[in-house]
Amino acid sequence: MTTQLSFPLVGNPGKSKGYRFRTSRNDRTRYCRDMYKAIKKLKGECPICEDITNLSYGTKSETLTINNQKINVTSKVYRCEDGKHFFYDPVDEENKFQDAYRKYRQINGLLQPEEIKEIRKKYGLSQRALARFLGWGEITIQRYESGAIQDNAHNIPLLLIKETSNFEKFYEKRKEQLDAKDIRKINKHLDEIKQLTLFSAFREGRKYEVNRSNLKLIRHLQSVGDYKYSIPIRTSEGELALAS
Ligand SMILES: [Zn+2]
Repeated sequence: MTTQLSFPLVGNPGKSKGYRFRTSRNDRTRYCRDMYKAIKKLKGECPICEDITNLSYGTKSETLTINNQKINVTSKVYRCEDGKHFFYDPVDEENKFQDAYRKYRQINGLLQPEEIKEIRKKYGLSQRALARFLGWGEITIQRYESGAIQDNAHNIPLLLIKETSNFEKFYEKRKEQLDAKDIRKINKHLDEIKQLTLFSAFREGRKYEVNRSNLKLIRHLQSVGDYKYSIPIRTSEGELALAS
């Protein structure tokens, strides 16, 4: 059984912008080998033959080379059965590269785009502000969050600031790189993180260090009830039970 294909083989195949017969995405990436498995057959316009031909749509395992490392991916691809050649839907092709990049990051211990975004949001920073904070080019974070692979030299500081205490140390030194608005946002987010940490420490009966900034919150939590009787707290003078 065959089905007539409307998208993406309409228009002016071979010349239209929708078709790209790339053999390489950039100098870091190239194809090595492929194995094709057809899923369905259909009739449609082959952009290479520039004619209606017998096509099939299926999956192909490919090995891409990213930064000199071989990455196996399964991609979706069209095959012109008459001309015995392959062509890609640009969306499938883009997905293939994104899959390969994701795998590459995983293998190399690099943060995924959404993890970078999560770290940035944790401190209430814009992409631009985080880049400035880390001393990088203004669009660096934007590039990484949209799928470009980060250098390992950029991955390390991102991994470090994921930990709030590391971020705070860095923040003390980098404050002057940020404007007043960003500083206000960061302070607000850091306060919230501390409150949440303290709150869960209370709830789970874990020890928590008392200092000027959280003493007020501790008093408040004690006054509201549930936490009254199980609050072992550590101070500079040693362990102290504030519970009555
Ligand atoms: Zn063809």
